[in-house]
Amino acid sequence: MTPYKDKEEFVKILSTLWERIFNTPEIMQGLGGEKIIVKFRFTDFDTSLYIDNSGDKPAYYWDAEGDAPFDVEMIQNSETSHKFWMEDLNVPLAIATRKVVAKGSVQKALKLLPALKPDFRLYPQVLREMGRDDLLQKAGAKKRKRRFKWFGRKGPRTYDLSRLEPFPLSLVREIESEEKPKGPEAVKAAEPLDLLRTIHTIRSFEEHLAKAFKDGEIPTDEYLVPIGKARVVRQGDAVTLYLFFVTYLIACKGRIPPRKKWKRNKRRNSMALTQDQLLILQELLSFDTINPPGNEDECASFIGDILEDHGFIIQRLEFAPKRTSLVALSKGHQSDKGAICFCGHMDTVPLGNAPWEHDPFGGKIVDDKIYGRGASDMKSGLAAMIMTGARLGEMDLRKDVVMLFTAGEETFCEGARYIAEHSEVLGKIGALVVCEPTSNRPMLGHRGAIHLKVRAKGVAAHASMPELGDNAIYKAAEVVLKLRDMDFHVTRHPLLGSPTINVGTISGGKNINSVPDYASVGVDIRTVPGLTAEDVLDQVRRLIGDRGEVEILNYAAPVSTDAEHEWIKEVFDIVEGVTGEKPKPAAAPYFTDASDLTPALGSPPTLILGPGQPEMAHKTDEYCYISKVEEAVEIYTKIAMKWAEAD
Ligand SMILES: [Zn+2]
Repeated sequence: MTPYKDKEEFVKILSTLWERIFNTPEIMQGLGGEKIIVKFRFTDFDTSLYIDNSGDKPAYYWDAEGDAPFDVEMIQNSETSHKFWMEDLNVPLAIATRKVVAKGSVQKALKLLPALKPDFRLYPQVLREMGRDDLLQKAGAKKRKRRFKWFGRKGPRTYDLSRLEPFPLSLVREIESEEKPKGPEAVKAAEPLDLLRTIHTIRSFEEHLAKAFKDGEIPTDEYLVPIGKARVVRQGDAVTLYLFFVTYLIACKGRIPPRKKWKRNKRRNSMALTQDQLLILQELLSFDTINPPGNEDECASFIGDILEDHGFIIQRLEFAPKRTSLVALSKGHQSDKGAICFCGHMDTVPLGNAPWEHDPFGGKIVDDKIYGRGASDMKSGLAAMIMTGARLGEMDLRKDVVMLFTAGEETFCEGARYIAEHSEVLGKIGALVVCEPTSNRPMLGHRGAIHLKVRAKGVAAHASMPELGDNAIYKAAEVVLKLRDMDFHVTRHPLLGSPTINVGTISGGKNINSVPDYASVGVDIRTVPGLTAEDVLDQVRRLIGDRGEVEILNYAAPVSTDAEHEWIKEVFDIVEGVTGEKPKPAAAPYFTDASDLTPALGSPPTLILGPGQPEMAHKTDEYCYISKVEEAVEIYTKIAMKWAEAD
């Protein structure tokens, strides 16, 4: 609920405030060094305030026309804004819990917070002048206090809980201490995001404990607290770690269990995966491998260590710094038919704008579901691969098995392309299983994808004399209409159907009163076997003539395997044996690393088969079913054993 009467009052109050801020030399000195344009978008009033400190003189403006540039955008409602100015909002926490959605150079914007501190005196002044003294009460303060008191009363008597700071923690102090970092240079500094995540986790943990106390349960069991991979080393962060540790000690009564015995809780559902196996999946989810930037390196090391322990030979392939793909090779002899290769990607897509109910890196388990970014796409698949590798290792059955963990799949298979260029490290591959989410239904292939950009050029002129120019948007418009009706003249594929085309973006022109000299169109084409990237490029060029230049931005090849192939029949039988469901020939809706790997490996029969739920891929509160992971381990193990046996 907005505390303001209406949009008009809101705009007036904030405009007055910013005029004051710009006229306070103390504040302006603090902001002087940062050349930045911050856009505050207020969702409830559907209006945007731009604070522009990029020029010589700072300025503010409301609802700039068109796409005004900005460095960072803070999306929130007017109530959150009010709380911010009342110093009643923990900004980093608000960002971590997505009360404020921040886009762009968030770090740069957060740095400005200490400089803005004196502003907080100005806001109450402005409110008073506008006759809104009634807004000067801090809404959240009372609530926070009560929660903590209640937490203290129910807590164990032997610990002095009043010495803990109340949550949420204020981050402003810690950000100030960033100016003079301590410790040796060689120590890697924590990213603000790591810190946010840690704080967020501590807060959820505190809430979890508070609830347990309220329910009259003094936790006596050990708790697993996923803290992601946050490295917390700076001075300010040490306070955080200390608090976390104290809370943790209380939870486990001062007794820290050894790593391997950590448990979630005693009331477990009937899951057949062991605690260690669940822990593997939770660990995988705790790695932030959001692409961009990816940072698959640590995740790769984690996987490599487990499989090395189980007798695999590990090779790492980096296509860029920290962008590590991993190859795990069995030590068994290589037969003529080659090895069976299981493949999966470690990166995930970003979290999106909608708030998550469950920590995207927490691996929270609710009944048969486990939540987290990548749960379905496709860390559940990776977990099933690792567990299969471990199982084969324990049974001493690793023979002719290759496991491939790729980086950078979500950005057109960068990691797989690099492996394809170095495919000699894999040896001969006789069959490929891509463990992408199919809910354990085997898929015989997928369409390919091509992203094109068509650039139309013209000659600029004044809009009052268009005859002197050459309008690039008219050309782009003609291109769009031609593409809409495009026919690729390729026979329909029995499994993958026909190619499709979609114009997804169009842009061009700078201002209304000019003839535009540039316009561009972004096109997505889904291809089927028999239609190569060159064919598409040729056909599009011929179609649009001299109206524009065509460039391929990204390409992934189609993949398809004959349902009658012997190995496919074998796998279908195995899947039916495990799931009780007879597989039907079908294709996956998305493309995979197989686009690059299958052709590079000499086109072995290729299946897409994995435990994730395809409909959960890239979604908010993504989850997968633990029982499906278990099923996948069963299927993969049988596929590998059959492969070794048939030798
Ligand atoms: Zn995927």
